[in-house]
Amino acid sequence: MTTNNDAHDSILIRLHAIASKLEGEGQYNVAKLARAAADSLLRTAAYPIELPVQKDKLASEVHGIAARLSDLEMHVDLVESLKAGASAIGEGRLPMLEDTPHPFVCRTCGHVELDLPGRNCPRCNAWPRTFQRYLPVYWLDAMDPFEAMNCLWRTPDEVMRFINGIGEDELCREVVKGEWSIRNLLTHLRDAQGVLDFRVNLLIEKDNPTIESKAVFEWAKAESERPASSMEIFDSYLSSRRKTLETLRGIPLADWWRKGRHEEFGTISIKQQASYFATHELAHLPQIEFLRERLTAS
Ligand SMILES: [Zn+2]
Repeated sequence: MTTNNDAHDSILIRLHAIASKLEGEGQYNVAKLARAAADSLLRTAAYPIELPVQKDKLASEVHGIAARLSDLEMHVDLVESLKAGASAIGEGRLPMLEDTPHPFVCRTCGHVELDLPGRNCPRCNAWPRTFQRYLPVYWLDAMDPFEAMNCLWRTPDEVMRFINGIGEDELCREVVKGEWSIRNLLTHLRDAQGVLDFRVNLLIEKDNPTIESKAVFEWAKAESERPASSMEIFDSYLSSRRKTLETLRGIPLADWWRKGRHEEFGTISIKQQASYFATHELAHLPQIEFLRERLTAS
């Protein structure tokens, strides 16, 4: 019997097959539509699925899916890396690059390699550079230097527009129980900006330095050594941002490709750091806007 799920799976596979064939025939504009349709179907189906946020439960979800992938004869290295990552999550650690390397998928036949392939695809003979690389987060490659600079310059104004006219008590209020206040978000943006500034200077001053992985997320509620008011937190975020932008404006464009070795994400350039932090901030703006709306409505 054919179910809705089967129909869904079969159209996804068909869309990818059609896209590959179209690309082979040079019909890239139509191929892109087929690939976008497949991506949209997948994300639409995944969007309503609720999963736990507790680390142990999330780890067991990943272990469960790793076992199912193993049954489907997924490449053993990818399955083992998923398990290692799940174990780290379960133990409250951030999985590092050695346990969870970047995967590369052959765009032609789907063969998987962990780390940049050093030879042609063993299944279809495709060249290594044609493999699709999976970075930990798209933020790393989302913006070119000019877009990132523009965004890093403008976002503090956006933040100010949201917090303008709100009193300190409201800024500190936990609107949704257990979730961040606007003050926590401002602290988080200020802390992330501090990490960006430190890393930009490190990558300019040293050749291929080690970049420590920072759990910036966990600092937002730590209140020791914090300035007295949320506005002061915003001011230190803004002044640090201006300093970073001045530094970035002063380097030659080629230096944006200076690299370091990030413990969690592997090789990372100044360009990728700027793109990462600029996009990261955009991801937090809707949270601040939501809190502002709730505070001004009540
Ligand atoms: Zn292949």
